[in-house]
Parts: sequence; C-alpha cells; structure tokens
Amino acid sequence: MKINGRTKLLCLLGSPVKQSFSPLMHNASFSKLNINASYMAFDIEHEEIEKALLGLKAMNFIGCNVTKPHKLAVMPFLDHIDENATQIGAVNTIVNKEGKLYGYNTDMFGFIESIKSRDLTLENKTVAVLGTGGAAKAVVVGLLNEKVKEILIFSRDILKANSFLADINHDGKLSSHTYKDISNQTYDYIINTTPIGMHKDDPSIINVTRAGHDDTVFYDLIYNPKETTFLREARESGRQTINGLDMLIYQGIAALELWFEFDSKGWTRDDVIDVLIKENIIEI
Ligand code: NAP
Repeated sequence: MKINGRTKLLCLLGSPVKQSFSPLMHNASFSKLNINASYMAFDIEHEEIEKALLGLKAMNFIGCNVTKPHKLAVMPFLDHIDENATQIGAVNTIVNKEGKLYGYNTDMFGFIESIKSRDLTLENKTVAVLGTGGAAKAVVVGLLNEKVKEILIFSRDILKANSFLADINHDGKLSSHTYKDISNQTYDYIINTTPIGMHKDDPSIINVTRAGHDDTVFYDLIYNPKETTFLREARESGRQTINGLDMLIYQGIAALELWFEFDSKGWTRDDVIDVLIKENIIEI
C-alpha cells in the first residue's frame, strides 16, 4: 500500500519506543488487510504530551496507542474515557472522532484473551502480580473480572503496593507484599509486569524455583526479548511459560476494531503471527 493523500495516520506515543513491535505489527497488518494507513512511533517527553495530542488532532491522525510512561498522563487531555480505562486508570488506545479524543484500554482484553485462548482457567485461582504500574492495573482489573480467588501484589515498596490496592475495588481479594514474601507455593500464576527482563542481561525479578508449584504458570508481559531470564528459569524448572506477544497481538486487534470499522472475526491472532513471521519480525 503506497502512502498517498488519503492515508490514515496512526502512531505510538511513549518513551522509549524503539523496542516496540507495534509499528511493525500494525504496518504489516495494514498491508495484508489492504488498509490505507500508516503507523509511526514517537518518543515523547512527559512535558510534551499535551502538545503531542494537540498535534495529532491538528494533523487529523485517526488515533494512537499510548505506552509507558504516558498511559496515565494522557487522560486529562481526552474528551471521553471509556469505563474499563477509567476503572484501570490508564489509557493505551486513543481514537480521534471528528476532533474529539476518546480513550480506551485494550491491554486488559489482550492479557485476558492471551490466557483464555490457551484454554487456561482463571476462576478461583491464586495469582501473584509483580509490579504496580499501569500494566499491572490492567492485569489486576482483568483478573478480578474473571473471578480469580486471590491476587497478591508485589512491590519494592509496601506503601506503593498499599496505594495500588486503595485504587481498586477488590472485595478483599487483593493483598500487598514486598518481594521478601515471594516464597509461597500456592500461586497458580505468577505474572511479571515489571520492566525487569527487557534488557538481555537482566536477572529474573524473583528466584523462580522458590515460588509456586509444578503447575504454576509463569507469565511475563515482556515480548522483546522473546524469553526473559524469568521465563527461561521457569521453563528450565519445568513450569509452563507465556510471554507478552499474544497480549500485544490481542490488544492490537482490539485497537484496530476501535480505529477502523473492522471485523476482527476475519483477522485472528494466527494471521498476525503469520505477518510477523513473513516480515521477519519474529521467529517461530
Ligand atoms: P512501569 O510503570 O514503568 O513499571 C511497572 C512497575 O514495575 C513499576 O510500577 C514498579 O513497581 C516496577 N518496577 C519498575 N522498575 C523496577 C525495577 N528496577 N525493579 C523492580 N521493579 C521495578 O511499566 P508498565 O507500563 O506498567 O509496563 C510494564 C511492562 O509491561 C513493560 O515491560 C511493558 O513493556 C510491558 N507491557 C507489555 C504489554 C503487552 O502487550 N505485552 C502491554 C503493556 C505493558 P514497584 O515500584 O511497585 O516495585
């Protein structure tokens, strides 16, 4: 698809953005789907976020994704925020409808779908969530909607964990901890939502052999690198592992539905995996 005067513009706002697969994934998808659109990535400083959003409006971008550290910072500059994004307190997808900016959160859907699509169950399960950032909020709200039994939130700072709990309506299902309490056998899932693992030489955020049991699922939201030390050590100790690629794909498909009148029944996770492999973005 050639860029012309009718090309619809989209982008990612974040900092850093250079490691993101979103531009590659969306541009490859547009090309395969014959959608005349182009997706770029802009590294934006915190204090420039309002100007960046005004710029998108002025240049008729049809929308954008927002990644760290701006998922919360964009919210005051939006005209409408949907219920899920309000509950999570973070926006990762914006749609520009006739000059009005609408905020959504597709991370929650992406995360839950990546688990359900593997036929894993969440109902009545005990989950450890590592980290208290925007991604953790989307994960935790999604898990509560799926009726898990209990979620243990881990932070480097107990005050941060406490304030994370205070922001969420959880019916007593959440508890706050520091990493010294991580050795516990009961977790059915341990989910890393921290950025520890994004650099190849990062150690695992926890000692995986001391947490969980044989059937514990270790999930890392990071997808680049494909296997973090956390996931490698879990795999080597015989546990099931999931990286963040499917979450990225499912949140991306949900964003396409919001930006375009798009029927995702005809565009599946496997279709996106195919384009990512064909474009040498991922290896099998
Ligand atoms: P974030 O706000 O920067 O960090 C999340 C939390 O990690 C922080 O609140 C902090 O919690 C903890 N943390 C930060 N630095 C740490 C360190 N040096 N050591 C230990 N803990 C640390 O990031 P985010 O926006 O929530 O995103 C988190 C990760 O999820 C990123 O790697 C991002 O790429 C990934 N992600 C993936 C997808 C996907 O589609 N696969 C979607 C969204 C995000 P405490 O201060 O409480 O310890």
